[in-house]
Parts: sequence; C-alpha cells; structure tokens
Amino acid sequence: MNPQTLSLRALLFLGLWHTGRRSLASTSELKDPPKKIAVVGAGIGGTAAAFYLRQEFGPGVKIDVFEPEVVGGRLATVKMGDYEYETGGSVIHPLNLHMKHFIEKLGIPPRKDVPSKMAIFDGKELTFEESDWFIINFLRLLWRYGFSFLRMQMWVESILDKFMRIYQYQQYGYSFTTVERLLHAMGGDGFLTIMNQTLEETMIGEGFSQVFLNEIVAPITRVNYGQSVRINGFVGAVSLAGAESGLWAVDGGNKRVCSGLLYHSKSELIPAKVTSVSVKVRPSKTGPTTSYYEVNYADESGSAHALYDIVVIATPLHQGKSDITFSGFSPPIPSHYPGRYHQTVTTLVHGMLNMSYLGTSEHASEFTVSDILTTDTKGSMINSLSSIDPVHIPADYKRPPASKTKVWKVFSPQPLSQEQLKEMFLSWDSVSETPWLAYPSYRPPHRRTPPFILHNRLYYLNALEWAASAMEMSAISARNVALLAHHRWHSQTGRIDQEDLHTRLRGEL
Ligand SMILES: Cc1cc2nc3c(=O)[nH]c(=O)nc-3n(C[C@H](O)[C@H](O)[C@H](O)COP(=O)(O)OP(=O)(O)OC[C@H]3O[C@@H](n4cnc5c(N)ncnc54)[C@H](O)[C@@H]3O)c2cc1C
Repeated sequence: MNPQTLSLRALLFLGLWHTGRRSLASTSELKDPPKKIAVVGAGIGGTAAAFYLRQEFGPGVKIDVFEPEVVGGRLATVKMGDYEYETGGSVIHPLNLHMKHFIEKLGIPPRKDVPSKMAIFDGKELTFEESDWFIINFLRLLWRYGFSFLRMQMWVESILDKFMRIYQYQQYGYSFTTVERLLHAMGGDGFLTIMNQTLEETMIGEGFSQVFLNEIVAPITRVNYGQSVRINGFVGAVSLAGAESGLWAVDGGNKRVCSGLLYHSKSELIPAKVTSVSVKVRPSKTGPTTSYYEVNYADESGSAHALYDIVVIATPLHQGKSDITFSGFSPPIPSHYPGRYHQTVTTLVHGMLNMSYLGTSEHASEFTVSDILTTDTKGSMINSLSSIDPVHIPADYKRPPASKTKVWKVFSPQPLSQEQLKEMFLSWDSVSETPWLAYPSYRPPHRRTPPFILHNRLYYLNALEWAASAMEMSAISARNVALLAHHRWHSQTGRIDQEDLHTRLRGEL
C-alpha cells in the first residue's frame, strides 16, 4: 500500500470524509427541489437511496418507498428456537464505509465478534483445517502453495486501494451515468478488463497456479457467490476480500439498517407492489409542459397510482426478481434485462452434525471449525456448511462444538433432499429453507450492463450488481443514483462523468 493511499484510508477511517466538503461547493442557485420521489424496493439499496435522496434534496420533498414484502429484501432473518439467524447477506467488510457510516448514524452497534475457524472439504475429506495457531496455518500454506497466499492478499489489497477512491469521489459529489464509467473512475482500464474476464483468467494472468485456484480460490467464490472461478475478476476480488479478517455484522440483524434508514430518511413506506411505471405529460403553471412518472401499484385492497417527479428502481430488473412494465417510453425500457440471477438455497438446520460426512476421524467434541468451504468437485451437493451464531450474541456466549445440537447453515444450488440431510446430520429438530435468486449469474464478458439512467428522471440502482453484488455495492449505487438525480435535476453537469478524478482530487487531501 503506498503512503498516498494510506493517508486516504486513514482520513476515510477518521470520518473526515463526512465533513461538509460538498455543501460548500453546492450552494449555487438551484431551482425548486422536486415535490415527490418514488423508490421501488426497500432492501439496503432502496432504503439507502431514500436516505441519500433526503440528504441531497432536503426536507421538503416527499419520498415514498414501495415494498410488498418485509423491509430488508435479501437481508433477512428467521427464528429458530429462541434466536434469530441471518439467511441472506450476512457479513460486511471492515472497509465498507457506507455500511459503517449507516450504523454509526443510526446508533446501532456492530454484532459482538465470535472468533471463527475455516476448513476446506473436497466432498470426501477435509483437505485443509485452520489451526488456532497463526504460525501453523502460515507454514502449512507456505508448504503447499509457496507465497501464493501472500501474493493473493497483496493483489486484493491493490484492488481495494483503488476501490476506496469511490468514497472520495462521492464525498465531493461526483456521480456516474454507467457502471463502466464508475468502475473506470475507480480503477481505470484495469477494472474494466477484470470485469470482462473470468477470475480464473485474471489470476492465471497474475501468475497464480491452477492448483491454488482450485483448492483455495474456488471454495471462496463458492461460499460467497455459489459460483466457480469463472465469475468475473472484479466480483472475484470482492469475494476474496470477503475472506479477509475483521468481517462484521449488525447487532440484531443486518436488515435493521434498512428499517433505520427508512425511518431516518422520513420516507413513507407504502406496502405495495409496483406493477408499472409510465411517463405522463401535463401542462404546467409556468407555460411549457412538464413530464411526470405515473407509478401504478397493487396491494391487498386493490390497485392505485400516484405521480412522481423522480423514480428510483431499487430491485433487479430480471426474470424472477421483479415484473414491472414500463410504458410510453421511447426507446422502450424492458421489464427484464438479459442475464439471470443465480439460485442459492439457504438451509438452516438445528441439529447434530454427522462427522463422518466430513471424512474426518476428529472427535465432534473437539471440532470447533465454524466455516466449511467446498471445492468445485463434480456432483458436490453443497457450496458451504457453517456453524452460525444468533444475530444478537447473548452475554457469555461461546460457540458450541460439533458434539452439541446447534444451528448450521448450508448453502446449496438446489434444495436439500431428506436423504442429503440424513447424510450430513445425525439428527435434527428443525429445518428452515430459503431459496434465493441470490446474485447475478456472472458470465463475463459483460457487454450490456444495464444503465443507471433508464429515462430522464427514472433511475436504476441494481445495475451495479453486474460488477459485484454486496450490501456495500447497493449502498454505493444508492449514493451514486441520488447524486445523479440531484445534479441532473439542477443541471449541474460538472459533477457527472468527470474524467481523471483521482489525479484532480489528489491535491485536495
Ligand atoms: C444467500 C445470500 C448471501 C449473501 N451474502 C452476502 C454477504 O455476506 N455480504 C454482502 O455484502 N452481501 C451478501 N449478499 C448480497 C446482498 O444481500 C445483496 O447484494 C443486497 O442485499 C442487495 O440489496 P438490494 O436492496 O439492492 O436488493 P434487494 O435486497 O433484493 O431489495 C429489493 C427489494 O425490492 C422489492 N421489490 C421487488 N419487486 C418489487 C416491486 N415490483 N415493487 C416494490 N418492491 C419490489 C423486493 O421485495 C426487495 O425487498 C448475499 C445475498 C444472498 C441472497
């Protein structure tokens, strides 16, 4: 890490990036703010969008957030016995600054940390098991893979250093109209290249061996994205960063951030499903016509519609994820963009693990591994198996060993059959299954990433998931879309799609 980045990171960590830098620069003459904004979807993306839209447009605008299901979307929990457990997005990287900022702002503490230990399973036996001793892990990895482990960390660090630039750009109010422009501003042509090739191609190109990819990298992409090393290199790097130390979660459940942001943004939650958005033209008081968006929605009591100045779509526009019709737009806006979402089934089992499934002779009472990752072997029925802790860690909590009945989380591409459950568990008293269309099925090259701008004042947040899907990515996209909406409303083109921002802003720190 170079000293320049170190100082940027240090400043970001100290929170100086939240000081009122932008407001100084944005006091020019502005036209009236919009009167009504609609946000479609109340996952972390939609609720963060409501938060940032309020920040950009001030207290006068009415913000409605439409959500037919539970607030939180892919951040969800289920109750098993007396406790709740995460079934969707669970861990957050220590450098995910928007997520950090949200919990600070909302006064929600991070979850108490419970140390974890990892192992790798090839379908027959455990090929690697983390020791409690750092030096033993280090020597084992050095023996088998040389310095690949350290080089991988350095490679991920170098990408993370560039990734962190987005926080500075956003603090200064800069926004981007396409995923490609946003990625280019962070990491230049290098980021576009890795987004359009597989992680395997990228890492082989960086000199990593196929054995290292199969035995170490693939288990990480499988647990984080349910997919192989043929996901794109950018989401691959995000996935590898997700295997670093210092990961955290939100006390009481990650979805608390969504309800907190909704409350903080003073938005109105409309518990309804948006069925269509159409563009309407109306005469205005001042003479020329004005266009509005008509949002049609349905709930248990029937259907209704309302007019908005700005609309933000904060749910994936893909088969199986949403079904919104866009009418009256030229060129037409599709209900579904090309590409599909990948299925990952989360199965929580309150039961006793069958140690022989893991091909280990270790005694269950001594087995304290929490995360069992899997290699990409043919016929492998699971992506991972983890011993999980409740969303709120009780006082004096100690994760029980495998000899005790406890909650295990299995990620698999298909629902587990009774036979498969019997193979993995000696007994169980409850099972909860959540099938997710979890994240994009990444098949680079991405030639047609959806745009952030669908129409003049109609924005699309989940386009960025095609670079990488994560809570922080939705938060970054939310801020980008709020900034874009603000600048385009006030015709401030100087803060949109600016080139060479990294060099231009270097002097500002
Ligand atoms: C199993 C799993 C594990 C994951 N692990 C992690 C992790 O550890 N760390 C991490 O950072 N990320 C993780 N992710 C990814 C992360 O959860 C997502 O990237 C993020 O939550 C997406 O948030 P979002 O708000 O953009 O979308 P969503 O959460 O999908 O929100 C969209 C919302 O829109 C609503 N909606 C849909 N259609 C309509 C409509 N017509 N009208 C109104 N509302 C509508 C939906 O009900 C939903 O609530 C994981 C995801 C899954 C599924």
